[in-house]
This record gives sequence, structure tokens and C-alpha cells, in this order.
Amino acid sequence: MTKITVVIPCFNEEDALMIYYWEMEKVMEEMKEAEFELLFVDDGSADHSLAIMKKLHEKDKRCRYLSFSRNFGKEAAIYAGLKNAKGDYVAVMDVDLQDPPALLPKMYRILQEEDFDNVATKRADRAGEPRIRSFLSESFYKFINKISGTEIVDGARDYRLMRRKMVDAVLEMSEYNRFSKGIFEWVGFRTKWLEFDHVDRSAGKTKWSVGKLFRYSLEGITGFSVAPLSLAAVIGVLFCMLSFIMILVIIMRTAIWGDPVAGWPSLVCIIFLVSGIQLFCTGIVGQYLSKTYLETKHRPIFILRESSEEGEQ
Ligand code: UDP
Ligand code: MG
Repeated sequence: MTKITVVIPCFNEEDALMIYYWEMEKVMEEMKEAEFELLFVDDGSADHSLAIMKKLHEKDKRCRYLSFSRNFGKEAAIYAGLKNAKGDYVAVMDVDLQDPPALLPKMYRILQEEDFDNVATKRADRAGEPRIRSFLSESFYKFINKISGTEIVDGARDYRLMRRKMVDAVLEMSEYNRFSKGIFEWVGFRTKWLEFDHVDRSAGKTKWSVGKLFRYSLEGITGFSVAPLSLAAVIGVLFCMLSFIMILVIIMRTAIWGDPVAGWPSLVCIIFLVSGIQLFCTGIVGQYLSKTYLETKHRPIFILRESSEEGEQ
């Protein structure tokens, strides 16, 4: 019998966990042809999420859990889940029902009947999201797709069902700075996209702040494009050409009209502008350097505190 593992990252989700399980029970009932494994990843929750996972494991052996020593972020939770998944097919799904479990049978059927390696999902539109957030997200996707060779699909969710081959490929990418939307695209394979309408959170609240989203978008840019690095070189060349023209103009002006002492304000403006641009470019280099620095340390992506396999330690 084919086995499907569902990886479910959870961070302070005590309110959503049971609702999710009840919903998945229906789906598992519907998909009798497959064996299920629900792999909950407790990403260092401070509430009762882990206790609920343990209870679920007691009650239903299809439920397993991994628990981190602290909060490592959703990307780390996805990686840990994929690494510990035993299924021939692996799905990644949010616990808050914003990734509708009811879509899973359809996704599975597509992989059975058609020649695809994974079925991915994206939001049909950005309804139910603050205007400013939509605007920032859309600008981000436009920007990153201009400068990156890897296509990052606008509105793509992490919710997808993959064949084992693809899961193994994703696991090969053991980088520390993880950006799943890019990684799933980078490994290639044949993807079928499904669209669905936005669903509100079942319970609890979102774990994303504007700051967190901003850092996440930087992760995407530095992880999947090196174009910003060449920006410094391009600006440098432009400024060299500009200064060459300015030197010529000043020499000619002095030769024709003499040399009255003037131009102090413009000089100050130029110094400010140029040093600003220089610092900006150094900052870009710094971003890449810091990512490289973390990468060379080879720190583990996650650390387990306990799991359903070992029991309590
Ligand atoms: N999540 C996680 N670690 C984090 C933040 C979030 O494992 O540091 C999980 C969270 O429990 C949820 C999923 O990632 O299952 C998506 O998070 P959320 O619903 O807050 O994001 P949104 O849907 O608002 O983008
Ligand atoms: Mg959500």
C-alpha cells in the first residue's frame, strides 16, 4: 500500500491542532487506498501544542511528532519533516486549514493518473489580505523574478504533494538559509499548479509580522539571485563616466571664465550622494557575506528535543 506522509509545521497552534486533526480524519477516511502518516513538527511552541501532539500519538498511531529545542522557523520545520517522512508521497500543509486538506485526494489522484512529480497550490487572488501587504508582496515577486533565474511563483503556497524522488532532491539542498518557494522550483521536476480561494485561519493568529516577512524576502533574494552584487559594479561604472564628463566641463569652464571659488553646496551634496551609494553597495555585499558566513559554519538546521520515536528524553 502506498504511504502518504503529511508534514505539518506548528508553532503555538494549540487552538488549531485538534480542528486540523478532525478535518484530516475525514480526508484519511476518504482516501482508504493509501496509508497515512501525519508528521507534526513542533517548532519550539511555548503553549500546549506538544502535549496535544502527544495525545494524538497515543490515540492514533498514524500521528507522529518531532519537537524542536527552540523556534527554528517554518523552513526548518519543513526540512525536518521531509527528512523524517517515511512516505512514498509527502505533502507539506499548514495546520491552520488555510491549506485545505480536502484538496489532498485531488492532488493524489493527479499524481496517480498524470505524468507529474508534484502538485503545488497557489492562491487564486489576494482577497482577505491588507492592501499594503498585497502591494509589498506583489512588488517583491515582480522584483525577484526579474533578477532570479529561478521562477518564484506569485501567491504560491508551501502546500504541495510530492513524489519521493522530488523529496530526496529537496533534501539534497541542505543549505542553512532556506527559502522553500525557491528550493521547490530549483530542483525542477514536473509541477501541476492548482488554484484555490483564500481561506481564513481556523483558529489562533498568524505568526508572520511585517519584519519577519521582510527578512524572509531578503532570504529569497540572496538565496536565488546574485544580481544585486553586480549593482555595485554597474553604479561604479556609471559614476566614473559621469565624473569624467564633469571633469571636462569644469576644466573648460575654468579655462573660459576663470576660477571663482564657488560650488561648496553642490560639493557637499555630491559627497553625501556618493557616500550613500557606497554604503548601500557595501551593505549589499554584507548581506551576501553574512549568508555565506552562516553557511560556512555548517550549523544544524534544526535541533530535536524529543520525538514520538524516541519517546521522552
Ligand atoms: N510556523 C512554524 N514556525 C514559525 C512560524 C510558523 O512552524 O516560526 C507554522 C505555523 O504553525 C503554521 C504555518 O507555519 O502551521 C503557517 O504559519 P501562519 O499561518 O502563521 O502563516 P500565514 O498563513 O499567515 O502566512
Ligand atoms: Mg496560515
